[in-house]
Amino acid sequence: MTDQKYSELAIEKIAKTKINDVDFDNINFGRKFTDHMFYCDFIDGAWQQPKIVPYQPMTLEPSARALHYGQAVFEGMKAYKDDNGNAFLFRPEDNHRRINISAARLAMPEFPKEYFMEGLTTLMKMDKDWIKPGVGNSLYVRPFMFAIDPAIAAAPSEAYRFMIICSPAKAYYTSKIRVLFSEKYSRSADGGVGYAKAAGNYAAQFYPTGLAQKRGYQQIIWTDAKTHEFLEEAGTMNIFFRVNDTLLTAPISDRILDGITRKSVIQLAEDSNIPVEVRRVTVSEIKEAATNGSLKEIFGAGTAAVISPISAFEHGGEVFEIPDTENSYALRLKKQLLDIQHNLSEDKHGWRYEVK
Ligand SMILES: *Cc1c(COP(=O)(O)O)cnc(C)c1O
Repeated sequence: MTDQKYSELAIEKIAKTKINDVDFDNINFGRKFTDHMFYCDFIDGAWQQPKIVPYQPMTLEPSARALHYGQAVFEGMKAYKDDNGNAFLFRPEDNHRRINISAARLAMPEFPKEYFMEGLTTLMKMDKDWIKPGVGNSLYVRPFMFAIDPAIAAAPSEAYRFMIICSPAKAYYTSKIRVLFSEKYSRSADGGVGYAKAAGNYAAQFYPTGLAQKRGYQQIIWTDAKTHEFLEEAGTMNIFFRVNDTLLTAPISDRILDGITRKSVIQLAEDSNIPVEVRRVTVSEIKEAATNGSLKEIFGAGTAAVISPISAFEHGGEVFEIPDTENSYALRLKKQLLDIQHNLSEDKHGWRYEVK
């Protein structure tokens, strides 16, 4: 796509904002959308004119290949506002890079960075009132791409749509969660698509996660498909274990998503001299650490919940409770991240991206 000629972003504004219909104090995550959306179609081998239009339903051929073969990828990121009304994104170029990594794995075209950044920042400016100040408030931004070619042969589509929609959010999973270490089902396999934010990865988790939820566990910690002995990640979060004062997390692989929160947490931990070991973590060492009291914390890290402390896990029919710890790394790292995201502290790694 390097020889693509860029066409100018076309903008159609909504006649009247819907913002007054939204109760920002009682937000049901992901159900309300802002006034505008961005889209751009890939047709005849080229990205067409990108557009921002009022958020609205769209028409799609029943034969659109995304519906049959799951050629669909997405991203998740957030916009924040400080008390002076300045809006920020967090490492958005990493989301751009990652959606193209996901797209490549699903035989989809790359989306050009110029279109992505311009569409994203223009949309943020147009819907800026939807980003509420205050730590915990944010605007969840969902870029995604899917196959729209009306043809049901099992082959890659020739036409795609790239979109960005936005939904106001409060921090969710406010209380600690209980998790199940997977012993039967798997999220991803060697050589598979686990590292991609491919739509089907999430569909495949709903059934086993539903079974876990019936037993009182909000999430599953996925283990490697081959042996179920290595702890990998949660469904939408990477996972950290604190044993004594050291943080452990699995290395990125073709089975594990390269989370932006994960790599930010690793950097912040290193900045405050917390030892971090990025290596394979076994179920048996964590059970042993829980038994002998050296397991101090487990937490998930991902854009949606930022950091989710975990209070218990089950494996092999046994439940292990993790007592609250003083000096929680999870709470400290969460505060550091939120402070950077909301422009309340110095941003020494250049992660904040001001929308202006
Ligand atoms: C999105 C996601 C994460 C978290 O990534 P962030 O960039 O931190 O939001 C972790 N694991 C999976 C499987 C994911 O889909």
